[in-house]
Amino acid sequence: MSLVVMKFGGSSVADADRIKNVANRVMARRHRGDKVVVVVSAPGDMTDDLIELAKGVTSDPDAREMDMLLATGEQVSIALLSMAIKNRGMDAVSLTGPQAGIYADWTHTKARITKIRPVAVQRELKKGRIVIVAGFQGLNPGRDIATLGRGGSDLTAVALAAALKADVCEIFTDVKGIYTADPRIVPEARKVDRISYDAMLELAGAGAQVMQARSIEVGKKYEVPIHVRSSFTDENGTMIMREDSSTMRSTKGKKMNDSIRNGGTEEAVVSGVALDRNQAKVTLADVPDRPGVAAEVFGALADGAINVDMIIQSAPREGVNDISFTVSRDDLKKALAILERVRAHLKARSVTSDSAVAKVSIVGVGMRSHPGVAASLFKSLASAGINIDMISTSEIKVACVVKENNAEKAMRIAHKTFTLEKK
Ligand code: ADP
Ligand code: ASP
Ligand code: MG
Repeated sequence: MSLVVMKFGGSSVADADRIKNVANRVMARRHRGDKVVVVVSAPGDMTDDLIELAKGVTSDPDAREMDMLLATGEQVSIALLSMAIKNRGMDAVSLTGPQAGIYADWTHTKARITKIRPVAVQRELKKGRIVIVAGFQGLNPGRDIATLGRGGSDLTAVALAAALKADVCEIFTDVKGIYTADPRIVPEARKVDRISYDAMLELAGAGAQVMQARSIEVGKKYEVPIHVRSSFTDENGTMIMREDSSTMRSTKGKKMNDSIRNGGTEEAVVSGVALDRNQAKVTLADVPDRPGVAAEVFGALADGAINVDMIIQSAPREGVNDISFTVSRDDLKKALAILERVRAHLKARSVTSDSAVAKVSIVGVGMRSHPGVAASLFKSLASAGINIDMISTSEIKVACVVKENNAEKAMRIAHKTFTLEKK
């Protein structure tokens, strides 16, 4: 008997018919004798709608209350799915994140999971029930509900799979697996049979919203085999696993691993291309060129829980320089408020921003051993007349900030440059 965590995203539970489809799928799995834990997201676009609703009430919603609001979406799904299953004659129980023993830190709206005590989940599984857990939420140290950042149901699923030592964590979504690029933007994109945690982590961090980046961090740390697949068909999707899959922890999931191993191919130099529109560029001009300045700027942003991505510092001129960096667009307003205080303190000239930018990234573990990948990308973008605003690289990623209206074109060019198309 296997223990499986099955996660269904918003589009998979968008209406009554889809919820019934999920109920059937989950029940079929339970019929096979497996223990089943289900994690669900809020139906359809409910989380976006709730955010809009809050913005209609105030331009600056209180973070604790925002979490109180957003967490309701997932509760709609768990209750409806549990009803649907019970009505079909199987026993199920819905649990909120706190009831499932998911504990989070103080960072409202993007809290981290601090620990999982899945006592109630295990108790209900023992009774033979299908356990349905609300994704995207946990209990913070103040005993308030906290949400885990956009896409956080992926994190709930993977972390629960780790805590329960599940044989596999299946992520059911509206595409057939992980593709070489978002298939909605690059129709030539190809589904891959498997991808390493490292490459998936970079792709997710670069904006491929198919998996939340933090869920992959947890998956990698605890070696949770993650199978991303379609909610609507039975075919195999993509396994996210260690580069060297033969040393995987899973033993009971052997059947699936074998089939993936047979169908799998060696990971390419570049395994995928990602686009992130949630980007804004900020420039602090004429900042004094002395030790401690960068620490002050980025320390203040870190204290405000704002993540900074690319950073460029210009060469000094007459004792000053410019610092440019990117933040997510959602954080821009907060970042500008913090930076205005820092600017005044440092006596820098100005703080300016540009939100009409996007980041295009290529990712692949094979880049480690293949020089010249970045150069090929820059050359292709240049031939298409696309200007690069900022560049950052890691061992397995090259990212370029470009004007937003060039971004999709840049993505298709990158995809073609590394011949990632369908054969
Ligand atoms: P869910 O609601 O199931 O969590 P998401 O909308 O969060 O689904 O993620 C699925 C979407 O991710 C797909 O519809 C697709 O447009 C997008 N996507 C972006 N990059 C990729 C990629 N490399 N492979 C597959 N899907 C991707
Ligand atoms: N409902 C949340 C969101 O839209 C969490 C999730 O779907 O994973 O971000
Ligand atoms: Mg998602």
